[in-house]
Amino acid sequence: AKRRGKNTLSLFHSVMQENLMNRLKMESRMTDTLEKGLFQVFFQPQVDSITGDLKGFEALVRWFDTELGYISPDRFIPLAEESKIIIALGDWILDTVCRILASWRSELGFTGTVSVNISPVQLKCRDFTEKLKRTLDKYGIDPGAIEIEITEGILIDNFDQVIEILNVIKKMGMRISLDDFGTGYSSLSYLQFIPLDTLKIDKSFIANITRDGRIEYEITNAIVTLVNKLGLNTIAEGVETKEQMDVIRAINCRTVQGFYTGKPAPAIECERLIRSGG
Ligand code: C2E
Ligand code: CA
Ligand code: CA
Ligand code: CA
Repeated sequence: AKRRGKNTLSLFHSVMQENLMNRLKMESRMTDTLEKGLFQVFFQPQVDSITGDLKGFEALVRWFDTELGYISPDRFIPLAEESKIIIALGDWILDTVCRILASWRSELGFTGTVSVNISPVQLKCRDFTEKLKRTLDKYGIDPGAIEIEITEGILIDNFDQVIEILNVIKKMGMRISLDDFGTGYSSLSYLQFIPLDTLKIDKSFIANITRDGRIEYEITNAIVTLVNKLGLNTIAEGVETKEQMDVIRAINCRTVQGFYTGKPAPAIECERLIRSGG
């Protein structure tokens, strides 16, 4: 199907980067890996910048292939989207996240949130919201414990339809987060239309927030100030150093996620963190 828009173009580019052989090979390996249940979900902590308390995690899919080795989601997610494998893979990720979250809640008394990345291909599926509800019910998950992460690219086609789906998700009690803010054609006007709880500032801003980064600093500071005034949560992504952490705290950005506070890790390693209260 031919669609228009920047998202389709960048998808086209990343898909073209893999040659045909690689694509076919990777697609068949992906299907095989999914059927055998060999994908994994890692979790990266999201931490209160002031108290250091653990607030939640972002779920990130991992693929360690027996033949191809480690393959980054930046490489295989575009292929999974193009081939529609993302729909079954996304279902598996959501089910796995809910199963793990249910056990953290019952066995460890975990009360934080888990954010799940949702591809536009998944979100625009007719039965997406019903599937969400079924999976939450299956594991008895409080909808407020799940945060759906989308990027602004999701709004490029079918703007009204997407806003309607997001409103349904919001009414179900789930949280909604706008990822990678500051890349692409980020516009503050989205804040009027998307029923947002959280805005995630892209790591390209955080990378330049200290050294020689007057512009990145000023933009981040202004965005955080505005988003705080609107009563939404802001997460600084990709915080790697103490210097970045200090700036983030000073400008009142309440949540951090990055290698400085914790790398993505398997569920079992996160359990230790939950037990120790972050
Ligand atoms: P994202 O949603 O922006 O995820 C954040 C990425 O930043 C992750 O890369 C994470 O490992 C990385 N990261 C975290 N802290 C730091 C840091 O301090 N420094 C640096 N340099 N990087 C950091 P990852 O896991 O390779 O994922 C890449 C992208 O693939 C994600 O970007 C997301 O767009 C996509 N993705 C990952 N998991 C899923 C998934 O389960 N479903 C879907 N649809 N997409 C996913
Ligand atoms: Ca994300
Ligand atoms: Ca991001
Ligand atoms: Ca990203």
